[in-house]
Amino acid sequence: MRILISNDDGIYSPGIVALAKVASRFGEVRIVAPDVEQSSMGHAITSSRPLRYKRIHLGEFEAYRVNGTPADCVALGTHLWQRIDLVLSGINLGLNLGNSCWHSGTLAAAKQAALLGIRGIALSTAMSDKQEPDFAALEPYVRKVLDLLLEEKAMSLVNVNLPQKPRGIRWTRQSVRQYDGEVVASKDPMGRPIYWFTITPLQGAEEGTDRWAIEHHWVSITPLRLDLTDEKDLAHALALHHTPPIGTETSGTSQKGKTSAHVTNKKARHRKS
Ligand code: MN
Repeated sequence: MRILISNDDGIYSPGIVALAKVASRFGEVRIVAPDVEQSSMGHAITSSRPLRYKRIHLGEFEAYRVNGTPADCVALGTHLWQRIDLVLSGINLGLNLGNSCWHSGTLAAAKQAALLGIRGIALSTAMSDKQEPDFAALEPYVRKVLDLLLEEKAMSLVNVNLPQKPRGIRWTRQSVRQYDGEVVASKDPMGRPIYWFTITPLQGAEEGTDRWAIEHHWVSITPLRLDLTDEKDLAHALALHHTPPIGTETSGTSQKGKTSAHVTNKKARHRKS
């Protein structure tokens, strides 16, 4: 099995070597990762300048540092190395739970794999300001997670979060809760305004979610999907009315006005019924 490994913390993060070591028990490993930290870059891709890589030694592993985002690294890695069976991203220094999935670069690397038809698994762990995660202690759990997920062949995109000293493993759903989204203003040493964007959750975690699992010291495994369509809203919209023929009218604004009035009336009728 060929396993491509990437991350968003940068190729020199200790988490990527820890992941490569575990992955090498399962197959042939190659590392393709950003040259500098790309945390919170989400699924950004580089389209306005060319990408380059430099081959480096990273322990016993063949590694390539790329001047791009996590998604770039997976695209380039799968281009340079054919027939990849699995893309692993991480182990991120910091959890990626709930709403973090929207801006996580770690998850984006796994997502890029899924978009290319390759299985993608993102792994993140808790991180404190005082010390780095104990990757040696986490290794048996990472191995167990990969054992489990390699059996579940239908799962194309998975988000895994590991607390320090886990008590076991739980399948979870993504916690979707409102965040404060507060912007904290301050001043730089030159007296110019600077801002920090905070993402503190406003509500507690619901049982069975990724956040809940981590709060209770479980390893959280969340199967994800690429299709963001809200099936309920779509079914509702399709039942509501036919799509108005915007753009097919040629007889001027009065006709357009008529069309929108017609739709508005239909909507109003629907609401009354
Ligand atoms: Mn990161």
